[in-house]
Amino acid sequence: MIPQVFLRRGKEESLLRRHPWIFSGAIDYIRAEEEAEIAEGALVDVYTRSGEFIARGHYQIGSIAVRVLSFEQEPIDDAWWRRKIAVAYDVRRTLSLTDDERTTCYRLVHGEGDGLPGLVVDVYGTTAVVQCHSVGMYRARQQVAAALREVYGDRLTAIYDKSSQTVPYNARLNAVDGYLWGSSDHETQAVAENGIRFLVNWEKGQKTGFFLDQRENRELVRRYAAGRTVLNTFCYTGGFSVYALAGGAREVCSVDSSERAVELAAENVRLNFGDDAPHTAVAADAVEYLKHIDDRYDLIILDPPAFAKHHKVLGNAMQGYKRLNARALSQIKSGGILFTFSCSQAVSKELFRTTVFSAAAIAGRKVRILHQLTQPADHPIDIYHPEGEYLKGLVLYVE
Ligand code: SAH
Repeated sequence: MIPQVFLRRGKEESLLRRHPWIFSGAIDYIRAEEEAEIAEGALVDVYTRSGEFIARGHYQIGSIAVRVLSFEQEPIDDAWWRRKIAVAYDVRRTLSLTDDERTTCYRLVHGEGDGLPGLVVDVYGTTAVVQCHSVGMYRARQQVAAALREVYGDRLTAIYDKSSQTVPYNARLNAVDGYLWGSSDHETQAVAENGIRFLVNWEKGQKTGFFLDQRENRELVRRYAAGRTVLNTFCYTGGFSVYALAGGAREVCSVDSSERAVELAAENVRLNFGDDAPHTAVAADAVEYLKHIDDRYDLIILDPPAFAKHHKVLGNAMQGYKRLNARALSQIKSGGILFTFSCSQAVSKELFRTTVFSAAAIAGRKVRILHQLTQPADHPIDIYHPEGEYLKGLVLYVE
């Protein structure tokens, strides 16, 4: 029997609006035949207090207690997983991402945005990298792998599970990263994005190996780069730097606190332009580095990691964003372009914009907003789950 989760009276409202999360505080009691059935990651059915079925999903101990897989009482079997992966694939096919020599990497499954809360699947050439953020998805990873193989056929040669850092620590799953199917004999593989090549190492790299969510924003940097002196802070594998050089930047400097990231950025520049590109890579704290740049740069990119991982630390995080932006805005050359981002889910578009506004006021510069940026379409947002809009960016002209 599938365990039954009964909500407290009136707590079904957000679910009736198809929001895919149930918070632990909304639960009245759980009914199961045996205790073991309500293990973390188990499939549960959710009912109103008066006994009407509302949703079926993965149970987890924590603030989000149930992540909804379906609002129907349907079996979550192999055919179900295949259907979900097939729809996700069809969306990327519609976006012309599945068969494009110029872009061979993309996100296939973006959690709630694809109706699969807790699951991320990124595709790099013929390898799919699965990253589970919930216990339920981790327990279902073999079914996910089977569905991927069915949908892709021989266009996939390997499926790598990279969940050890993302499954909840408290669940003590002892997750170990490794291939669920197939293997890869290369340490790093070259992929293409908008015709530019990048080395990706999903086994050792951050996230699934590459930040796919900046694809379109990098393209915009390419458009603005001609003749400019560019500073790319928080560069990781140098995505923005390589595009800036492709767009004809006069000079590019990449900064990241991780030595390894800085090496990767330099390697990616070499892969596309050889040894003579006007590029320097510096391992340093970006916030410190920005103190000493004077007015050298007329295109600056700020793409920090999420300062606010959750709402509790929002205040400090906003101070961090403000300081960072104020520093860049006060030093950028006049006529300069600033690309500034926040990838914190807890920071809304409005809050981010207000913070950058405060930074501009501190710097005392005249600033115009040229573009308002977000995540690309292969990171879709479930309309009933607006929290899914996590990446925010502004392109500013600084007089
Ligand atoms: N812009 C990148 C992604 C950035 S991810 C891209 O397009 O791929 C954030 C990066 O910030 C990570 O590589 C991390 O190593 C780096 N980082 C974190 N704290 C930092 C700090 N204080 N100074 C410089 N880099 C930092």
